[in-house]
Amino acid sequence: MPELPEMENYKIILNQRVAGQVITGITVTREKSINVNVDLFRKSVLNQKVVTVNRRGKHILFQLDNNSVLLLHLMLGGWMFYGTDAEKPKRTIQVQLSFGEENLYFIGLRLGYLHLYSPAEVENRLAHLGPEPLAAEFTKEEFLKTLALKHGRLKTTLLDQEFIAGIGNCYSAEICFDACIKPVRDIDELHEKERIRLFNSMKSILEKGVRYGGYMEHPFFNGDIVTGGFQDQCLIYDREGQTCKRCGTIIVMEMVSSRKTFYCPNCQR
Ligand SMILES: [Zn+2]
Repeated sequence: MPELPEMENYKIILNQRVAGQVITGITVTREKSINVNVDLFRKSVLNQKVVTVNRRGKHILFQLDNNSVLLLHLMLGGWMFYGTDAEKPKRTIQVQLSFGEENLYFIGLRLGYLHLYSPAEVENRLAHLGPEPLAAEFTKEEFLKTLALKHGRLKTTLLDQEFIAGIGNCYSAEICFDACIKPVRDIDELHEKERIRLFNSMKSILEKGVRYGGYMEHPFFNGDIVTGGFQDQCLIYDREGQTCKRCGTIIVMEMVSSRKTFYCPNCQR
């Protein structure tokens, strides 16, 4: 499932490609992917300019001229592609927004969605989300204060969107590896030094994820060499049975709250 860096990468490219452009066509082939009937969706979205594209946690927000917002969550298996009809991926498209000759394709929206909301509705929908981990105002002091209120497994807390927004299975593993802390540890056991390491690793790993274009497997447009660059940067996620690049020990996988959890039993304490 795409996490903060994947969605931030999409946001950056969408602002370059579609911000300031008018939506000239709409095709909805899976009505369940939207939250209102197709006629209302079309009436509210067609001929609207995308003013800007924002991100909150794992969501993307397309801000339209008429103040409506298209709220996107890709969930498991969702992705996007931008290009002409001729470049269109050979996949089932659930929703297509056209910008003249070019189209924004929403693909793999099974659990994912593209919902139409008023500003108040979208605010309400996102109200439960915790702080943005890369925001400058989310300081070490804030992090330590929030973490002090949490108990239970570290991994489970990192995935909790109400604790911090945008971290999922891959980056939680990479953050814990970078901080040399086992994700299966109980938060109550973490020393002050480990908590600070965790904060620093959270910032640096998520920033690195964005810098390398996240881990999505498909390019966003033909000739896109940025998207997916983080795949080669994963040091621990999905590497069960392989050797740790830091110490050579075999990486193990353990299920935590029914999520695959990878760590090095030697260099993560
Ligand atoms: Zn190791």
